[in-house]
Amino acid sequence: MPTYVRTDKCDGCKGQDKTACMYICPHDLMLLDKDGSLTGHPMKAFNQEPEQCWECYSCVKICPQNAIEVRHYADVVPLGASVQPLRGTDSIMWTIKFRNGTVKRFKFPIRTTPEGSIDPYANKPKANMAEIDDHSTLFTHGTHKCDMSQFIHSS
Ligand code: SF4
Ligand code: SF4
Repeated sequence: MPTYVRTDKCDGCKGQDKTACMYICPHDLMLLDKDGSLTGHPMKAFNQEPEQCWECYSCVKICPQNAIEVRHYADVVPLGASVQPLRGTDSIMWTIKFRNGTVKRFKFPIRTTPEGSIDPYANKPKANMAEIDDHSTLFTHGTHKCDMSQFIHSS
């Protein structure tokens, strides 16, 4: 079930060098067809290798135009169902459409802290680069040196 771009909604991220979907895709699949020479749709993005899509939904969530959907080709799997997120500042509204026309919506928070306020290392110790090649600190066979308490956050 790869992504595809709705050309009626995509605005090419207003011609920026790197579109939001190109920026976020972990597999570098999204591409903006600036002059339309690749797809016949100038200034529209597309998934250049659909068979490589992980269906991670990252591009679907970040697209400011809600122009990307994840759905199998209708001529191959004519189910007519879809799962579509709409991202807000603090939550995502998921719209689930079933084959029989039933529509359900669920809203989930996406964060509990203000944007940009995360301290990824908090009170954890800094990495000891001298131990980076010492596998006994990473694996449990042999002498187990790993102190699991450093991975457990206590507040
Ligand atoms: S993020 Fe959305 S609007 Fe921007 S280029 Fe990609 S599909 Fe188009
Ligand atoms: S769903 Fe994930 S892997 Fe597929 S095109 Fe979007 S960002 Fe890339």
